Order: sequence, then structure tokens, then C-alpha cells
Amino acid sequence: MPDATGADATPRRNPSELALDAIRPLANLPVFFKLTGRRVVVAGGSEAAAWKAELLAASGADVAVYAPSPAPKMLETAGRHPQIAIFLRAWAAEDLAGAALAVADAANAAEAEAFAQAARQAKTPVNVIDQPEFCDFSFGAIVNRSPLVIGISTDGAAPVFGQALRARIEALIPANFSAWARAAKEWRPQFSELGAAFRQRRNFWERFATLALASGGRKPASHDLDGLLAAAAAEKGAATLGQVVLVGGGPGDAELLTLKAVRALQSADVILFDDLISPAVLELARREAQRINVGKRGHGPSVGQADISALLVSLGLAGKKVVRLKGGDPAVFGRTNEEIAAARAAGIECTIVPGVTAALAAAASLGISLSERDRARRIQFITAHAADGSLPVRLDWPALVDPGATTAVYMGVKTLPALARRLLDEGLDPLTPAVMIENASLPEERRFVATLADMPALIAAAAPTGPCMLLYGQTLDRANNAEGSAAP
Ligand code: SAH
Repeated sequence: MPDATGADATPRRNPSELALDAIRPLANLPVFFKLTGRRVVVAGGSEAAAWKAELLAASGADVAVYAPSPAPKMLETAGRHPQIAIFLRAWAAEDLAGAALAVADAANAAEAEAFAQAARQAKTPVNVIDQPEFCDFSFGAIVNRSPLVIGISTDGAAPVFGQALRARIEALIPANFSAWARAAKEWRPQFSELGAAFRQRRNFWERFATLALASGGRKPASHDLDGLLAAAAAEKGAATLGQVVLVGGGPGDAELLTLKAVRALQSADVILFDDLISPAVLELARREAQRINVGKRGHGPSVGQADISALLVSLGLAGKKVVRLKGGDPAVFGRTNEEIAAARAAGIECTIVPGVTAALAAAASLGISLSERDRARRIQFITAHAADGSLPVRLDWPALVDPGATTAVYMGVKTLPALARRLLDEGLDPLTPAVMIENASLPEERRFVATLADMPALIAAAAPTGPCMLLYGQTLDRANNAEGSAAP
């Protein structure tokens, strides 16, 4: 585990790379079918068939509807779409020849089967409305910001769930994204003329995405394109250094990541991560990103800090976009200054994305505030782990026994007996409420509630193996009734 005060005293190991994760099985393959100018058959004149005809026509298809007596809705739809032609008769097998897709609202199972068979003979993918057993493909729920199109499928398991999700995504994606996606199409040729290299092309499109996401409902304008082209042109001459982003991975629960952290993970070429990083967080990374474990462990073999810094620098110099993913917040007991200094010394741009630090995740889990008017006017974070693994000597003892403070102790399991003894010697009230919280924010979270004097015995008996956060101070008495507590 990292220590704030000096070099590692722990055994060494080498960074180890994770295999790119294999694609997990999919119920269906989402593909986007180009229908412009292609003939599509719709059999049946019902209202449901009319909806499909409209969707197909909106996607650019020439829709041939076969219906002896079409419903008013079908007639009305065809009236609005010149590409929909209604033939006032039942479908016949020959109608399917050469069609790109075939859709039917079948009157009964016999018709459904006959239609599916005819379509397959014609080698035309088929959909029979509401009869999945006869379908080669299905229509999902759609979020339409064309040319940006999002399709959602539950493989028929729960269409209403799909619809609910669609509503969520609709709310997330501003209407003006249609204009941005169109602009991307229009601007692509002008940008291609620059003849930029791969990395610069990626940078261009990442800047484009950042601009669109930050556009706040504004439509793209020609000055946006000018700015992007200028940035790309400026980059073209310069040697392309990569960049390093130190990202706070939070305490474990992936939902506690910031949107910025997720975005950094999504655009990374390489991710260097600690042991404390949960798999759920890593899963949010770009699929193609190389993932390297540079784990530091409390008392097991660790990758040396100098090796990590050297790796950061060499990847940055090779032009990679490196995410250094650290547990909690990078600025809290993470040896971040050493990594920043190494990157900057090599001229590599280095930025920080904050994360939820373990002490705050623990407080949230306990449902308490670390500060409290009158009772806790100071909050202090300390590490109880010196470079050699012992209790650090230069701690501010008067501050640590201040009854008006709440203290969060990082890396405090091994030295807990020594810490507690010293705090009591320095005058801390033995009845000071305390909670040790293991794996804060994760499903396997455990809490140990005791007075500070009793905590070492409780922890020795429980022997927790996950990362543990010790909180003590008067406000912790509010945590005594916390759900799931392991109070003696
Ligand atoms: N930068 C990290 C701290 C790194 S030091 C942060 O901001 O949280 C590692 C220590 O953090 C561990 O020894 C433990 O004390 C604490 N820690 C990290 N994750 C934790 C978690 N999920 N639950 C409890 N403590 C945690």
C-alpha cells in the first residue's frame, strides 16, 4: 500500500497486464440497416402494420404494403409518405423477391408461418409482428437523433422495460445532438484534407465530442469547425506527446465515479490501476484500452513507485493517453505528487480528476456527517502507516486527541493497537465512539462499532482482509445504530 512519507518497504512485483475482456454473449446482434431506396414488403393493413410502414419509410425504404382492406391509419400514413404504396390485395410469395426486409401483421399462426417461409425462400429477413418465433430480426425501442440513432432491445423479455430505458436516454441526449451528428458528417471531409495522423484524428474527434457534450442545447456553428481545424493543424507540426490523467476511482462502487472519470476511462489508450480498483470500475473503460495492474498492497508484493512513474513517462512519451486510476481520490495518500512530478519533468501534460475518498464513502455508508456544529469543528485525515509499516512518529498528537475533531485513519489496521494505546496515553477519552468500516461502498462492506479503547480487540478477533477505514470522534455515536453494525 502506498505510504505518504517515504519509499516502499514492501516486496516488489512487476506490473501485470490484463487480457482485453472477451465479449460476453449477446441475445441479438445490434446492426444498423441501410434502407435508402430499397424495397421493403409489409403484409397487412392494420394499425400495427401502419406503424412499421411509417418507420420503414422514415428510414428511407420504398414500402410496398399488401392489404385487401387497409385500416384508416394505414391510408393516412401512406398519404403522408409518398414512398409507401398500398396494393389492395393479399400478399403473394412472388412479392417478396428482391425485398430487403419483410414484415407482416399476420391474422393467424398459419399465415405467420406461410409468410416466414416465403420470406426465407426469397432470402429476405423477416419479422412477424408480435410473433417472435417467426422473426429473423426485431424492432427495438428507438432514440432518434438521426444520424445519431440508438436502438434498445430486451430480446422480447420486457419491452416496457426497454421503453422506460428509452425515456431515460431521451432525457439524457439533447435534441441538438442530431445537428452535431450531422455536422460531424459534413465536417469529416474538410478535416480529412488535413491528412492528420491517427492520434491527431482521435484528438480531433474527442475535442468534437467534448464540444458537443458541453454545447448546452446550442447548435454547431462554423466557428466550432474553425476552432477544431485550427487545433488539429497546430498539433500536426508538434511532436505528439501523450497525456496522463490521474483519475480518482472512488472507494469501489462504480456509481460513485464522476462523469469526468468515466469519460477519461472511455478515451484511454492505457490504464494503470491499483489493486484497490474494483472490477466494476474497470469495466467502464474503453474496450480496446490496455489495462495494467501496478498494484501496491499493504503487506504483499508491490510494484515500486519508481517503476510506476517510469512506466507513466514512457507511455506518455510514446504518445499514449494514459489513465492512472487510483483508489478513492488521487490527492489523498496516493503518492500522486511523485507521479505528477515525473510526468511534468518529461514535459507530459498531467491532470487530476478527483474521486470520492474512502473516509467520505465511509461516512456516507454510516449515514453520518463528519462535522457537527459544536461537537466536531475539525475533520482530519491521517495515515497510520509509515514507510517501514510502523506507526508514523511525527503525528500531531494534541490534534488527534482533540475531543472537538473527527479523525479518519487510512491504512490503520496493522498499527491499530499501537495507535489506540498512544491516543489513550495522550489523553483521548477511552469511550470515544469509533467505527472501523471494511470495503466501504461495496456489497461486502462490514462495520465494526466499538469505543476506541475496545476497537483493537474487536478488530483482532474479526481479522478483516479488505481495505479498512477507522473513523473516531464524538459524531460517531450517531453511527452506533447503523444498520449492519458488528457492535459487541
Ligand atoms: N487515495 C485513497 C486512499 C489510498 S490509501 C482514498 O482517497 O481513499 C489506502 C487506504 O484507503 C486503505 O488502507 C484504507 O484505509 C482506505 N480505503 C480505500 N478504499 C477503502 C474502502 N473501500 N473502504 C475502506 N477503506 C478504504
